[in-house]
Amino acid sequence: MTGFAPAKPPVFGETPGTLAARLSALGAPAFRAGQILDWIYKRRACSPDAMSNLPGALREWLGEAFDFAPNEPLLQKQSSDVTRKILQRLRDGSLVETVVINAPQEGVGVEHSRQTVCVSTQVGCAYGCRFCASGLAGWKRNLSAGEIVAQLMVAARVAGGVFDNVVVMGMGEPLANYDNLLAALRIVNAPWALGLGARRITVSTSGVVPKILALAEEPLGVRLAVSLHGATNEVRDRIMPVNRRFPLEKLLPACATFASRHGRMLTLEFILIAEINDSLEQARALADIARKLHAHVNLIPCNAVEGLPWQRPSLTRQQHFLRALKARSVSATLRREKGADIDAACGQLRLRTEKLLPNQQHA
Ligand code: SAH
Ligand code: SF4
Repeated sequence: MTGFAPAKPPVFGETPGTLAARLSALGAPAFRAGQILDWIYKRRACSPDAMSNLPGALREWLGEAFDFAPNEPLLQKQSSDVTRKILQRLRDGSLVETVVINAPQEGVGVEHSRQTVCVSTQVGCAYGCRFCASGLAGWKRNLSAGEIVAQLMVAARVAGGVFDNVVVMGMGEPLANYDNLLAALRIVNAPWALGLGARRITVSTSGVVPKILALAEEPLGVRLAVSLHGATNEVRDRIMPVNRRFPLEKLLPACATFASRHGRMLTLEFILIAEINDSLEQARALADIARKLHAHVNLIPCNAVEGLPWQRPSLTRQQHFLRALKARSVSATLRREKGADIDAACGQLRLRTEKLLPNQQHA
């Protein structure tokens, strides 16, 4: 089973084409599709009742045919001055968390801050990276395109209606839910829906090579972040089971293909884990990889996950690692301590979600 079929499909999975086809089967004119989508995405109507320029019978049909609230926001938690987490319950009771990151731009004040929304694409994850909470309880199901878009609509309400960036870095491996992901991102990008430019959308993957190559051929042109976390097969094999199927000799050429197709800088994510991947040899090997790919390296001190032994290196060691990259002319950043709860939200959704089940006070 790769999907979940709710009684009514979420309206957020529709496009002008699919909606017009359903309307024409009803005998309604195709132009109604545009009106309906305008109500949903431009005027942010939460139910067909608000769609005052539609005939009553059509409004009634819409309410019967589609789910307008497939994701119920259960709880919001402001975990720091910059992050807000929204726990969302899907129709089958599964919980996913969406994060709104409000990052002030240097020197311009909070009123010009950029809002980034981090979305989940699966309930759980089958990839089982050793440091990640999302994979701890395994994979449950893929989110539908409508559920992915609905997460953003709920987040947009929380974020005051607008956001500037979407990062697909929540629970799950996005490229293992490729078709639904792409359908959702096309809606996010479409001028009739959210109209968010592709360069404001980043998909993060642990390295699913065939799908990186497929994404490289998509005209959509979203950004790619690759969770490398090890600069040699030896280190990657220890912490990321995906590396056995797609080792570096397959992953890195796929990254190069993606970068050359889109002419955009890739990001290599590298979680620093004490005694696992924080040596200077790893920094040197990472620098070689990043230079060949012209990639930016984002170093992220790992978050402790309950039940897992990993620890973040000392700040001095983190900075040594960063300096070793910069000394080799690699564009690199080290995520500040302040962002730790952002990582926790994006990388540890499942753990946090499970904690929330019996008692909703620990978000
Ligand atoms: N499956 C995709 C996207 C979701 S994971 C991927 O792996 O890229 C999003 C990010 O959270 C990844 O970079 C992941 O490596 C990171 N992450 C997971 N566990 C973490 C931890 N314990 N500390 C810090 N980041 C973590
Ligand atoms: Fe899945 Fe990404 Fe977590 Fe790995 S890091 S288990 S791919 S969510």
